[in-house]
Amino acid sequence: MGFDIQNVRGNFPILRRKVYEKQLVYLDNAATTQKPDMVIDRLNNFYSYENSNVHRGIHHLSQEATACFEEARDYVQKFLNAHSRNEIIFTRGTTESINLVAQSFGRKFINPGDEVLISQMEHHSNIVPWQMICEERGARLLVVPITESAELNMKAFEKMLSDKTRIVAITHVSNTLGTINPVDIIVKLAHRVGARVLIDGAQAIAHLPIDLQNLDCDFYCFSGHKVYGPTGIGVLYGKVELLEEMLPYQCGGEMISEVTFEKTTFNELPYKFEAGTPNIAGALGLHSALLYLDRLGIRQAAAHEDEVFKYALDKLGQIDQIIIYSRAQHKTTSLSFNLKGVHPYDVGSIIDKFAVAVRTGHLCTQPLTRIFQVPGFVRASFAVYNTTEEVDIFINAVIQAKSMLMS
Ligand code: PMP
Repeated sequence: MGFDIQNVRGNFPILRRKVYEKQLVYLDNAATTQKPDMVIDRLNNFYSYENSNVHRGIHHLSQEATACFEEARDYVQKFLNAHSRNEIIFTRGTTESINLVAQSFGRKFINPGDEVLISQMEHHSNIVPWQMICEERGARLLVVPITESAELNMKAFEKMLSDKTRIVAITHVSNTLGTINPVDIIVKLAHRVGARVLIDGAQAIAHLPIDLQNLDCDFYCFSGHKVYGPTGIGVLYGKVELLEEMLPYQCGGEMISEVTFEKTTFNELPYKFEAGTPNIAGALGLHSALLYLDRLGIRQAAAHEDEVFKYALDKLGQIDQIIIYSRAQHKTTSLSFNLKGVHPYDVGSIIDKFAVAVRTGHLCTQPLTRIFQVPGFVRASFAVYNTTEEVDIFINAVIQAKSMLMS
């Protein structure tokens, strides 16, 4: 499959639909991406002809479903270049993955007086789980500030690291600012003081090639629905030596080895962390989504997205009275902005009438709204199927919103 944008668009049936009798322009990809035929067909086929529970059945269908489910795990391992398939745990998504680490790692390794480092640009799902576990364990949550140019303040980060730091939990790419954080440097600096590192890859997975053996972080997580896969499926990668020491986060079927009323022993990795019937169809759909992206070529896809993103940044920047928050030198596909003094909901609702889907509000980063002293943001976020023609429609919608709201 070479990279041909019209071909790519043809793979996504939803892009053919109309909204308000106009062609849909979908620019809410940081919230969730659309799904190609390959993923939709995979789900359809599973439920039509293959549906069965995994791991427990002796019968043919169950064995087939188990094989497909485990092949999906193998593919994720390969996609991330993880060392072992036992390091790949299927979860409901990024949120569940972070909660799993906060609870299981936290209860084992975070003690009174310890510190957990996050940053000002984290999504709520990489803030609240750490707040909760810090409170429970008597630890301190430290927040690394960002700079004027919407980048992590690396000097402050280095200063905040100490032998008290148990874990650093940082987003790879900010869903609001688009900033790509220097995660390789963060991992090296954190490891120097003996801290572990969790990277929230929710906004990176569709846009940046990931090589976990090279990156050497301790945990990495993402959601399937942000990378052209289904909702309700995601991944937690964790280093085997850590996962081995952590206790399960949820308990029930699948995660046990032997149960008596007196004592339970746990299953081996990765099943120890996969209690209950998993999202089987979701895992198969995720496999297809990653396969789809691999066939397109993630670098080619990213190069196309970058072109569209830069075009949008440039065009938006030419409108006066616009404040752009996506200012980092290294950034990708999330473009947040406001019309000076205008509420983002007002802007978003006018843009919507042009059949352009953008997101408005705090974007699950309320602390950032306080830092920038705004009620929220308008965010356009791009995926592999977006075009510069769509950007033109979006820009026209912004100009119309401006003339209605600011004249
Ligand atoms: N982290 C980041 C950076 C995100 O953008 C999101 C989703 N907006 C999440 C975490 C949470 O992902 P999910 O809702 O799929 O669990």
